[in-house]
Amino acid sequence: MLPMVDGLLNYGKRAVEAARYIGQGFTITLDHMNRLPTTVQYPYEKLIPSERFRGRIHFEFDKCIACEVCVRVCPINLPVVDWEFRRNVGKKQLKSYTIDFGVCIFCGNCVEYCPTNCLSMTEEYELSTYDRHELNYDQIALGRLPIPIARDETIQSIPNLVSLSKGFIEGHIDSKSVIHN
Ligand code: SF4
Ligand code: SF4
Repeated sequence: MLPMVDGLLNYGKRAVEAARYIGQGFTITLDHMNRLPTTVQYPYEKLIPSERFRGRIHFEFDKCIACEVCVRVCPINLPVVDWEFRRNVGKKQLKSYTIDFGVCIFCGNCVEYCPTNCLSMTEEYELSTYDRHELNYDQIALGRLPIPIARDETIQSIPNLVSLSKGFIEGHIDSKSVIHN
């Protein structure tokens, strides 16, 4: 008789334990059901890059003095500065300026050291192309300013991101709120 009672008691204990684990599982499921999605429906939604994001470089042709500091500080001597010396004014005249973003590592050295601040880093990161040679930007392509993601009307704003960690949320603002502010 006694072994049977023991068996029943053990069975009862295990049943209670199993119910507890199932309950814990359901609590976690319910907790996740309360959260908002953490995924972004790219390209219809976009996250706004942080202020110091190092994207595609912007170049101002008129400010450049062809000093070539950007070439010397670049770890791979990437910018190509084509210039000629104008004897009548005793100065270098910039003819063309190119940066190949297929090779650039976006370290920002050229931007940091340019004495005339004619280089800056934009928030543009969509540089994919079928032909890598298209990534070799001349002064015209480099002079184009990208549309800030926050002001791009073709993109859906990202809904409340409270379910993301604080550090993750900081760089991402609802684009509609930015437009109306
Ligand atoms: S460092 Fe600046 S000014 Fe000098 S060549 Fe490069 S872009 Fe032009
Ligand atoms: S960001 Fe860095 S790698 Fe790219 S051109 Fe400037 S210095 Fe060179």
